[in-house]
Amino acid sequence: MNLKNLQERVSNLEDKTKTKYVVESPKEREILAKTVKLNEEVGELCNDILGILKLQRKSKLDKFDKRNVYQEFADVIIVTTQLALAAGVDLERAINDKLKTIEERHKKEKTETTTDQ
Ligand SMILES: [Mg+2]
Repeated sequence: MNLKNLQERVSNLEDKTKTKYVVESPKEREILAKTVKLNEEVGELCNDILGILKLQRKSKLDKFDKRNVYQEFADVIIVTTQLALAAGVDLERAINDKLKTIEERHKKEKTETTTDQ
């Protein structure tokens, strides 16, 4: 298969699946845009983490400023908060519920580990 053939095959599939990706309302567009923006910010944070770990090529490491990682963590949290607002998600409730689930799982795993011995 060459790239031309791949594009033709994917184009044919796209014609069949196009209706699945229709975003009509302004709210849906806002949520989609913020989701894409969040992905951009996560990518920027990943880039800085790679810099801290010195896993970038030299030309990137020469320009790298590790103080920027603080801004990228903030960007991820800010855009996550914006997305939650757009999607109508109560972040405090979501985080409390998730932390409770994790704590209960760890408590259960610890109990199972001590009773297995
Ligand atoms: Mg950023």
